[in-house]
Amino acid sequence: MGEKGRFSGVLFEYCMEGIIFFSEDGQILDANESARKSTGYFDELRMCNIADILPEIFYLNEGVLEKKKHLVPGEAFQSVAYCKNKLCFPIKIKILWETDDTIANTSRTGICIFVDISAQVAAKRRKEEADEVMEQANQLRDEFVANLTHELRTPVNGIWGLATDLKKSPLTQDQQEDVDIIMHCCNNMTAMIGNLLDFSKMEANKLQLEEREFSLKGLLDKILGVYRPQMSRKGLKLVVNIASDLPEKVIGDDLRLEQIFLNLLSNALKFTAEGYIALEVLITKRTEESIELFSRIIDTGLGISEDKLELLFQRFSQVDGSITRKHGGTGLGLSISKKLVTMMGGVIWVDSKLGKGSSFSFTVNLKTTTHRRKELGEMPVAQNNKAVREWLEPEEPQNGRPERFIKIMERLAISVEMENKEKAEAFAEQLKAMIPEEGKELWRAVLRVQMDMRKADYVRASEDMERLQELTELQECALLWE
Ligand code: ADP
Repeated sequence: MGEKGRFSGVLFEYCMEGIIFFSEDGQILDANESARKSTGYFDELRMCNIADILPEIFYLNEGVLEKKKHLVPGEAFQSVAYCKNKLCFPIKIKILWETDDTIANTSRTGICIFVDISAQVAAKRRKEEADEVMEQANQLRDEFVANLTHELRTPVNGIWGLATDLKKSPLTQDQQEDVDIIMHCCNNMTAMIGNLLDFSKMEANKLQLEEREFSLKGLLDKILGVYRPQMSRKGLKLVVNIASDLPEKVIGDDLRLEQIFLNLLSNALKFTAEGYIALEVLITKRTEESIELFSRIIDTGLGISEDKLELLFQRFSQVDGSITRKHGGTGLGLSISKKLVTMMGGVIWVDSKLGKGSSFSFTVNLKTTTHRRKELGEMPVAQNNKAVREWLEPEEPQNGRPERFIKIMERLAISVEMENKEKAEAFAEQLKAMIPEEGKELWRAVLRVQMDMRKADYVRASEDMERLQELTELQECALLWE
């Protein structure tokens, strides 16, 4: 007899599971300690029928044991076990049948193995109750925030209206400045109220995008019209680089897109005391139906330390309490922007160095109008270029092949070195198309090189290229394709 055989008696008696053997007519033949104790029958258990313990599974029909449900031998399921005092407890159970061929007429012995799952069931119930309470509390909070923000708008609008009237009356220089401060405060309040309102909508999953036809250029002009005077008042230089090939009209939620721009630009303005703020807007992908708009807002302001970057897009997160007290804000703007960007099928990210400045980039997808779609009937510039096509042939871009990725990356590196914008554009596009969903960081690294090349900033492009190569090695690129 092996070790298993020698100890099987001890295992049966003292294991944590309850084990009951019963005959074909349900009579309990033997039960281990756990089964005897948990049912409260102790030694009397041997005088019971299995139908007394498991009435949800078995019943006796004129002395014959019948099943109430279909049983698959060895398959675990949930049920309840009844105790001597008629109380029951939840169990996870398996039922098996053993045939004893040594006995004439071949009789079968039923084996039931069960574990008491009262603790798990109680914990699950407690969690469900807690979730329900939390859900109610959240609902109340959302309603409260929605009402409060709504109520706050009225007095702020009142103050704004009175200040506007006051500004028109004859005032001394000092009084003029005071009224300007009042109006500035009103503006800040309105922005904060708007953020709180959006936040409550976002939490309640009620933030929705609308679709309208609008002029991208018109939108950008409007935004710049708001920020240009503010920046020059602060002595900051505004650098604008907007691609000339933006479609005349696009379809999307212009107000929400404006909100993303305003949030990033007002942060740049808020956290930059000297230097410049740059706004870059380009198209990074075109299909027949849509464009991918890429925008980057760079500032030479306070910057953000590396360990805080991760937190930035989380709600209520502000990098530094003292700065916030000085500049105001709710810590909601970036989380709302992130939500909006995601809803528009894009991504948002930040690069920053403490004391040097920040660069916030985002992409969004916008539909093109039918008129524009016709215009875009041709191939994208890069793919249309014969020289580039020749260099790429005979291989076709293909997903799932890291070695091809590395090869194209090498070609991108050469194009950067040779300062060949066209080829770099084509290879960057190919690389981006090969990167799976999970490789966002890699995708951004490629985009950076692409953007640098478009701006003919070759020094930066080769720095970013190095970073891209490091990242590819670091992430053991192959993993991305597994
Ligand atoms: P807030 O309304 O407080 O500005 P945001 O979500 O827009 O909320 O920003 C969160 C925090 O991120 C800010 O409080 C600030 O600490 C930091 N931050 C955002 N943009 C910049 C920037 N351009 N430069 C430096 N810090 C920034």
